[in-house]
Amino acid sequence: MKQILSFRRPAFVALSCLFAFTLSAAKPVKTLLITGQNNHNWQVSHVVIKQILENSGLFSVDFAVSPEKGKDMSGFILDFSSYQLVILDYNGDAWPEETNRRFLSFVENGGGVVVYHAADNAFSGWEAYNKIIALGGWEGRNEKSGPYVYWQNGRLVKDSSPGVGGSHGKQHTYVLNGRDMSHPITKGLPLKWLHGKDELYDRMRGPGDIANLLYTAYSDKETGGSGREEPLLFTVNYGKARIFHTMLGHAGATVEDNPAMQCAGFQVTLLRGAEWAATGKVKQKVPKDFPAETTASDRKQYK
Ligand SMILES: [Zn+2]
Repeated sequence: MKQILSFRRPAFVALSCLFAFTLSAAKPVKTLLITGQNNHNWQVSHVVIKQILENSGLFSVDFAVSPEKGKDMSGFILDFSSYQLVILDYNGDAWPEETNRRFLSFVENGGGVVVYHAADNAFSGWEAYNKIIALGGWEGRNEKSGPYVYWQNGRLVKDSSPGVGGSHGKQHTYVLNGRDMSHPITKGLPLKWLHGKDELYDRMRGPGDIANLLYTAYSDKETGGSGREEPLLFTVNYGKARIFHTMLGHAGATVEDNPAMQCAGFQVTLLRGAEWAATGKVKQKVPKDFPAETTASDRKQYK
């Protein structure tokens, strides 16, 4: 009897340790969000992205806010070493060379990256950055930046015809069309879903090395678009890096008036893309409030 008791007690302790280990393994993903300059309302977007990520319980988000446009950037030296994930919400003056070098080293050593909306406007002359985003727009981009990349006749085509890189028609609601529903980011999500009122980026150009094309949308000429099926959510092939690019989520006037980012589809794909970029897996369940093809769905409180 004594022997059995003395056997059971250590077994119970071992189980408790296992439980504690499981809890500590679910520590939030340490995330650095870079912002501070943008031709967009970054004052809204960076706060909202932090809310979306932290409300999920899966991430903790720090900000790296750059000096204002035109001010001295030499002190904007970032330390990526304690982060698993970097979110790019920046479109502005060049970072110091040291920050560029550290960012590339972070990416090349397997750090996760989320490219969010107008971050793909940034740094049109920085070759490595353009490989990381795969497709970009504006800031002088043209045929020298790389081909147009779009979905046509059931496949992704690269079109090197001349012309501007990057435009969009008027904001409207539109349907996202799934192109790879077996990727961890998209698995279990609907093939088609209605996005909240947003810009639809079109005619983007760049090296275009898309690894997994996840969703496209039709950019209708009626709304000022390209008449093409444009890639809007995808992962990027860049060494061993895990990069998720979402062109959705044009920031609104205020945190409360922000239809593109208040869309549950934007938030859930951002969360799944961020988890995959950081860990290579997606453990989040598909929520019941995800939009359907004809039914939009909002999370106005970002949770
Ligand atoms: Zn925008």
